[in-house]
Amino acid sequence: MTTPLGEKIARLISLNGPIGVADFFSLCLADPDYGYYKVREPFGADGDFITAPEISQLFGELIGVFLVNAWKAHGAPLPVRIAELGPGRGVLMADVMRVVSKLAPELAAKATIELVETSERLRELQSRALSVSTSPVRWHDDIDTIEPGFTLLVANEFFDALPIRQFVSTDSGFRERVVALDDDDELVFSVGSASLDDSFLPAQDAVSPGTVFEVSPARNAVAAKIAERIERDGGAGLVIDYGHVRSGFGDTLQAVREHRYVSVLETPGEADLTSHVDFEMLAQAMRGVHVMPVMTQGDFLLALGLLERAGRLGAGKDEDAQQQITAAVQRLAGDGSHDMGNLFKVMCVTGDKLELAPFFTDN
Ligand code: SAH
Repeated sequence: MTTPLGEKIARLISLNGPIGVADFFSLCLADPDYGYYKVREPFGADGDFITAPEISQLFGELIGVFLVNAWKAHGAPLPVRIAELGPGRGVLMADVMRVVSKLAPELAAKATIELVETSERLRELQSRALSVSTSPVRWHDDIDTIEPGFTLLVANEFFDALPIRQFVSTDSGFRERVVALDDDDELVFSVGSASLDDSFLPAQDAVSPGTVFEVSPARNAVAAKIAERIERDGGAGLVIDYGHVRSGFGDTLQAVREHRYVSVLETPGEADLTSHVDFEMLAQAMRGVHVMPVMTQGDFLLALGLLERAGRLGAGKDEDAQQQITAAVQRLAGDGSHDMGNLFKVMCVTGDKLELAPFFTDN
């Protein structure tokens, strides 16, 4: 076994039997001793992966523009909770608040910043990133403890970090995909022996044996809470993540370390573990709110004026700086295989049914 967490998981399995993918996922990211977010510095060029706000300030600034527009579209109510789920190093919220202070000082003056973050280490970094903001900042383990009130909420690359369950199509129906031990006591994927009530899974006829279907009760639970809150108190929620607009079959569990894909089972706790977000399922879990048709990140950012803003940011700067901005625009909104423009999707929900550019309503 290659990591301390790998050994811990192997011991658990040898004592209690195979564990589901969701338990494996949770242990990898959140184990109190060896979990990925407890021990690693995931972000940035020296880390394991780079997120949109870490690529360029343009991303957070455009989210800021969108949130100010959303606030105005609701009649500019005050006070406002500006909430973020999984804020990482706090870069996105810092960029958002800079724009909010500029475009809507009256909003910044009456806003509280509410950060849902489980990692103490990241809370510390978030506190530093937001030290210049004049709005009070509060941290939460869970969205439930954010005080009631009109809410503007954003979650970038948060849902992909919440555990999924996987089911495998077999000759005798769907079975839970589990992590077990092979003859050499190495972690391997296997198929649970217990049959299950698969009434919540899609029809199996069209798929070959071995095909995987994913569900995420953890994501659905958070989505339901966001919806409940926005329905009750008013507001808008913006979810940005990589994933698919429609539910479908396929194994999307992936581990990334030092900017490269690695085997999911090889280095538990030392690689980031995520899976693609199923936006159709997420939307179904958001009852009572208005869900706008999902856009790609590329279309979303371009419609909000990414190119114009990039031009302004680059004006008067040297060639190196301009090239960096051009590369950031490409990465954020381009459609190449390493770009985020097509892979990442943006979903917006609001309490009131209203027009909120660049989303369009289809009914
Ligand atoms: N949004 C940031 C970071 C994304 S990484 C960015 O775009 O750069 C995922 C973030 O979610 C981290 O801050 C991680 O600590 C946090 N996180 C993961 N699981 C969580 C959970 N169950 N509750 C709260 N925060 C969680």
